[in-house]
Amino acid sequence: AVRVRFAPSPTGMFHVGGARSALFNWAVAKQTGGTFVLRIEDTDASRNKPEWVDGILAAHAALGMHADDPTFEGPYFQSQNVSKHHEAAARLRDAGRAYYCDCTRDDVQARTGNQHSGYDGHCRDRGLTEAPGRALRFRTPDEGETAVVDLIRGNPTFPNAAMEDFVVARGDGSPVFLLANVVDDLDEGITHVIRGEEHLPNTPKQQLLWEALGATPPVWAHLPVIVNEKRQKLSKRRDKVALEDYLAEGYLPEAMVNYLMLLGWAPGNDEEILPFDEMISRFRIEDVNSASAFFDLKKLAAFNGEYIRALSTEAFVAAVGPWLQAPHAPWAAEQFDAEAFAAVAPLAQSRVALLSDITANVDFLFLDASVDDEQSWNKAMKAGAPELLTDVRAAFATLEPWTAEPLKETVLTVGEQHGLKLGKAQAPVRVAVTGRTVGLPLFEALEVLGRERTLGRIDAALA
Ligand code: GLU
Repeated sequence: AVRVRFAPSPTGMFHVGGARSALFNWAVAKQTGGTFVLRIEDTDASRNKPEWVDGILAAHAALGMHADDPTFEGPYFQSQNVSKHHEAAARLRDAGRAYYCDCTRDDVQARTGNQHSGYDGHCRDRGLTEAPGRALRFRTPDEGETAVVDLIRGNPTFPNAAMEDFVVARGDGSPVFLLANVVDDLDEGITHVIRGEEHLPNTPKQQLLWEALGATPPVWAHLPVIVNEKRQKLSKRRDKVALEDYLAEGYLPEAMVNYLMLLGWAPGNDEEILPFDEMISRFRIEDVNSASAFFDLKKLAAFNGEYIRALSTEAFVAAVGPWLQAPHAPWAAEQFDAEAFAAVAPLAQSRVALLSDITANVDFLFLDASVDDEQSWNKAMKAGAPELLTDVRAAFATLEPWTAEPLKETVLTVGEQHGLKLGKAQAPVRVAVTGRTVGLPLFEALEVLGRERTLGRIDAALA
């Protein structure tokens, strides 16, 4: 049976690239009736934090990979397997596959005269015994090549002569990532290692370790790197990479899942927006592209807008709930009017790309003071605007009924009297009443706001 794993290190906020790896592994597990193993690689105590472990677990749940799903196994913690890592190092040594080495970096450099050359094999046959400060190195073959099966990158081969004798346990005896990662994969019965491309250089070394430990190596698949609009690798210093930040801004988890699944893969037929289950059944790891994948924020926002529009009104109202309250909303709880909000919710739903956009679209309903945006104010209140507003106000005062269509007719008619088309005539009305140059369809908005408040705001603008 297929057993895949996702093995994040809890050294920071959970990254969208990690989310993509997790989802691809999940898709393979699901579609093959296999198992997805979550393993937290937490052996570097100096760089790990418990909240980052929690973040990994929360992200999986948010993305629909639930720990109570029968496909999900774990989480395992690498730190709980350290004795096995030590055992494996000892086995390699006892089998003559690894040797102790007391060379420092400077020693090697002095001998090779090259800062970048790998280890020169100096201690290979010195027969050093275990002692503090002596690292354990794996003896790589001098000839032949290591061929790995990679479902995305063909089957790359690596000449063994170019592979240095690499360290498997440090001078203090602690096993390194390369070994711990293999031992855990072996222990967990992993059949397919699907991970980021940055690990490709580790793969021939790790495959040699699998073989030296007497096991059949897994099938590998190295996912393409994710880049920003400048084709730079997505990084936490340059780019917004934390999944949590996207969710906190009002990206829907379903939209994130859909978008992340397309980072290196396409469902075909020019289809892009598909339910998770459908993507899972169509996903083929062999179809993943090896070229770098562009993380397109505009496209992500467009996806999110589509997902928002696909919600029922009820689900939309529930989803924006948190954004209608402190600390997101600029109004006080008692200023919020659920009925007025419900009346404009469908209009808002068709406009927002992010859930967080909701406040700017509906704040005019709850905040009397016009939103402070001097630039838009000045733009809309050009010469002639006060005269127009005065006439609109007079017509609004007696208008019956106070509904969108007659409101629009009124502004149209008054606008004509001032030589203005509807679009130009409604701009100062919008700014005076809502404090913004863009927003919900104006006349529906005014209908919900009501006559009294509309007139009051026009008066305030004219004062
Ligand atoms: N902990 C490693 C990482 O975060 C795992 C690499 C792997 O998937 O093998 O990159």
